[in-house]
Amino acid sequence: MDTNQFKRFQFQPFIIEAIKELGFTKPTEIQERLIPTIHRGESAIGQSQTGTGKTHAYLLPIIDKVHSLSQEVQVVITAPTRELATQIHQEVVKVIKHTEGEQQITSKLFVGGTDKQRTIEKLKTQPHIVVGTPGRINDLVKEQALFVHTAKTLVVDEADLMLDMGFINDVDQIAAKMVEKLQILVFSATIPEKLKPFLKKYMDNPRYTHVAPKQATAAKVEHVLIPLRHRKKIDLLHEMLTLYNPYLAIVFTNTKKMADKVADGLLEKGLRVGRIHGGLSPRERKKVMKQVTELEYQFVVATDLAARGIDIEGVSHVINYELPSDLDFYVHRVGRTARAGFSGVAATIYEPSDEDALVKLEKMGITFTNIDVEKDEFVKVGERNRRKTRQRQSDEIDEKAKSFVRKPSKVKPGYKKKMTREMDSIKQRERRIKKRNNK
Ligand code: AMP
Repeated sequence: MDTNQFKRFQFQPFIIEAIKELGFTKPTEIQERLIPTIHRGESAIGQSQTGTGKTHAYLLPIIDKVHSLSQEVQVVITAPTRELATQIHQEVVKVIKHTEGEQQITSKLFVGGTDKQRTIEKLKTQPHIVVGTPGRINDLVKEQALFVHTAKTLVVDEADLMLDMGFINDVDQIAAKMVEKLQILVFSATIPEKLKPFLKKYMDNPRYTHVAPKQATAAKVEHVLIPLRHRKKIDLLHEMLTLYNPYLAIVFTNTKKMADKVADGLLEKGLRVGRIHGGLSPRERKKVMKQVTELEYQFVVATDLAARGIDIEGVSHVINYELPSDLDFYVHRVGRTARAGFSGVAATIYEPSDEDALVKLEKMGITFTNIDVEKDEFVKVGERNRRKTRQRQSDEIDEKAKSFVRKPSKVKPGYKKKMTREMDSIKQRERRIKKRNNK
């Protein structure tokens, strides 16, 4: 495998070897843009989603700079979920396994749900690289089992999710214990206002890079809408899944309770489904993740927090059993499919109450195709019924009309009739103006 395009970063031979084994031939956009900065030891903010190659954009240059001879923590990598931390650690291992002897670099994973005492015992020697969830890392630091004061680099992966899950305080406490001239690397799909105080506190003048999801990839996702109508949702879902016969489909729900209900419903109908949500024990989650990566399931029901950031290859279909209340999650969900150049389908079952959310998604640039299931097959149908929007427009005109009609201080006989007449004529005028403007 030709790794020439990585040569200009002047990595050590073991990194080049790892890249070769990973099968990467050329850097992705974010790697192209951030590797030199990170390699120089500078701080950076990478606004990008999973699927862009962001993990290796920071892993390769920071592992390259680890001094194997000083047996102390040099890098701390934090991630909001156990799965994501585990996945990052696995990627670290794939790189450092190419080191040996004096050059050997070590990494340890610290996540909740594991035996803390045993972890502490194993920390007699400090690893060069620490990967984990902020809560557990902070715990071990407080217990004086893990020494992060020697670390010069801190990675905060999926920072917006850290914030959502309330972990930013832990990250803050860890960062406060580290060297003053800290290299801090923050990766996040969005940069919410609430994250800014943290960024300001630890970073002055960081390099900021925004990498949009690849157009070619994004364009390959077909967004479809299916109306629930009078049907039972679980029946419709079952029918959709059977008709799609996907390589791997993830069905998203908003709560663990609903995820269980849907998974149980599909099981009852004879489908082999996996489930990933925060209610599972770490052991169970790990098992399901393994089964999913080994393609034991064709269908997985998941909640947002559990599934975000996880790199599951080959997701061909994303089904929104419910639209997320935070519409950014629609983008994250759909980001699970059409990875690495494959095409994908994002299908949403909707009801009239979803109208506002759908309009917002359209405003975000998403174009939906409308389909339905009829007589055991998918059929294209006309645009969804936008009655609610039309209704709202006429409500708005009503409000406007009312505001034009001043209520007389003394109500004379026939006032009500007069007011209705006046309102009608104003409404008519508004409609005419609207019609003309639309032409
Ligand atoms: P990430 O955005 O870090 O979740 O990475 C998404 C996927 O892209 C992972 O499966 C990586 O192994 C893969 N990847 C990362 N860098 C490259 C590259 N330069 N060439 C090909 N695949 C890559």
